[in-house]
Amino acid sequence: MDLDLGPELLQIQARARQVAREVVEPHARSADEQRRFDRWIVRELGRHGLLDERASALARTLMLEELGRADSSVRGFATVQVELVASALAKWGTEAQRGRWLPGLRAGEVVGCYALTEPEAGSDVRSIKTLARRTNGGWLISGIKHWITNGAVADLALVFAVTTDGMTAFCVPTDSPGLEREPMRGLPLGHRAADHARIELRNVKVPDDAVLGEVGGGHRVAMGALGHGRLGVAAGAVGVLQACLDACVDFVRWRRQFGRRIGDFEMVQAALADMAADARAARLLVREAAWLRDQGRDASQAVAVAKLFCTEAALRAADQAILLHGARGYSSEYPVERYWRDAKGMQIYEGTAHVQRIVIARSLIGRDPATEAPPS
Ligand SMILES: Cc1cc2nc3c(=O)[nH]c(=O)nc-3n(C[C@H](O)[C@H](O)[C@H](O)COP(=O)(O)OP(=O)(O)OC[C@H]3O[C@@H](n4cnc5c(N)ncnc54)[C@H](O)[C@@H]3O)c2cc1C
Repeated sequence: MDLDLGPELLQIQARARQVAREVVEPHARSADEQRRFDRWIVRELGRHGLLDERASALARTLMLEELGRADSSVRGFATVQVELVASALAKWGTEAQRGRWLPGLRAGEVVGCYALTEPEAGSDVRSIKTLARRTNGGWLISGIKHWITNGAVADLALVFAVTTDGMTAFCVPTDSPGLEREPMRGLPLGHRAADHARIELRNVKVPDDAVLGEVGGGHRVAMGALGHGRLGVAAGAVGVLQACLDACVDFVRWRRQFGRRIGDFEMVQAALADMAADARAARLLVREAAWLRDQGRDASQAVAVAKLFCTEAALRAADQAILLHGARGYSSEYPVERYWRDAKGMQIYEGTAHVQRIVIARSLIGRDPATEAPPS
């Protein structure tokens, strides 16, 4: 594994950093306060090549880290669009499906969402109830999905449903008759500028060629996409960690108490040092997992470790960042409270911290054939 990114990757990183700083970051606070999903930012990301699933895994983590440093809502959008939706289409889609959806997804002209979670099926994805029944020349899909990122604005939904052969993935245009969506109720703790929806499907008819992958192969599609998505979340968490460190370094240099910069107090220095150590370790974990993926090697344990460590380290950093900012950190005047609210969500979606620990432990000890399959 080469730690030197090389000129091409450095250029991608620099471009992503510039877009994140000039396009995304200036709107992060107002978008969070107004719960505003900015569709024009999506097009800008597309225009600058930040939504292209054909980039290497390493290049994509570099882009997502930069977006995460600026705004986790925008990074969350991009993770779903690229890692969950486009990567699944690229891997499992027919030529017709890829031709129909991928150019628009890459350009940011089409928005995708990944509809797996249901009110009664969260971590236990195999227990989904959404049903797809065969009908003349196609399928009728019925069920309820919730907490779907991009759900209310998406043009395309990847919907996972139960079929007689197991779980199957479907490409469902969101203007299909019978598909209704509404924003999730309640004020979310974080990711307030992201779009989260409840989607109800009532006998939504799709043709046979809407099946993504094989009939009955939906679990593999879902888990493969989540493998990409979890790495994207880990990369976004590294961005949050870095943003916390940047904010604290700046703050402790100017804030003075007891006649000294607060950065000269040892307890403050220890917090900064821990944050810097976590940031370096987290970034290396993401790089390793991306490198394994780019080599075509098994990255499942490395991805779960990266997702677990980076999201929890981001949360620790954001917690300390609020403390170091004192009362200022407790207000939206400074960004650190948003980092904390967003980091908490990262610990939950695309497999909670508990689920990542299960994945890691299972890769160490294997499944017990005598008992039921543990959760995915
Ligand atoms: C901001 C946000 C965006 C999201 N976006 C999407 C999206 O785009 N698409 C989508 O399909 N879903 C999305 N989700 C849903 C998300 O994936 C689920 O919330 C997550 O998988 C957890 O499911 P749950 O909320 O039902 O919790 P549950 O599964 O009910 O878990 C509750 C608690 O029990 C623990 N638990 C469950 N099973 C076990 C076990 N076997 N061992 C130990 N602990 C366990 C969990 O870790 C958790 O702490 C999103 C959620 C959020 C918050």
